[in-house]
Amino acid sequence: MVERILVVEDEARIASLISRTLRLEGYQVEVAPNGETALEKAISNPADLIVLDVMLPDIDGLEVCRQLRMAGCDEPVLMLTAKDAISDRVAGLDAGADDYLVKPFAFDELLARVRALLRRAAPPDVSAPLQFADLELDPTTRQARRGEREIELTAKEYDVLELFMHHPRQVLTRDIIYDRIWGYDFGGESNIIEVYVRYLRAKLEAGDEPRLIYTLRGVGYVLREE
Ligand code: CA
Repeated sequence: MVERILVVEDEARIASLISRTLRLEGYQVEVAPNGETALEKAISNPADLIVLDVMLPDIDGLEVCRQLRMAGCDEPVLMLTAKDAISDRVAGLDAGADDYLVKPFAFDELLARVRALLRRAAPPDVSAPLQFADLELDPTTRQARRGEREIELTAKEYDVLELFMHHPRQVLTRDIIYDRIWGYDFGGESNIIEVYVRYLRAKLEAGDEPRLIYTLRGVGYVLREE
């Protein structure tokens, strides 16, 4: 099956460079030059992945992403941002993006991220629920529960938690988590893992339950009981 990618970028030159690169790799590509067109296309005929520039002439990329998620579209979104500030990256993730790439980027890097996101979005294997302490994760529904409490997880939160559940009481270094979840070497300065662990703790401990994901400063994280 040929995977379809929607590229949302108003600068024609960049849009055409990105689409040419993706087409050469065998993807089917559609381009939307502004946020409104992007929303129409994404909702009427969902793509397998969306490459979404933050800086658009009408509705900005963050808002496009928020509206897509609100409309129930759950395809992976790779956000392109010209800004390198941590706050912008976090804003993108908060808006529901799965990953981001800072402009200018190398096309190899773009392709690596696209491959990783499409791989992560592949339908999950049907298998038995994962269990640790009072936490249960169901790979078929991708839902979590602690005791009787249902916990809604985003796709990425689920992926991170699933990785911990497959390796209980083992220390997972940041490098391992980057590699398994994002599928490439993220470099030392990103705080993306901290952001996701914070999201997960907030949800897992929302009913005042004891902590399950612990930080080992400078090393990584471990799923364990106190
Ligand atoms: Ca732009």
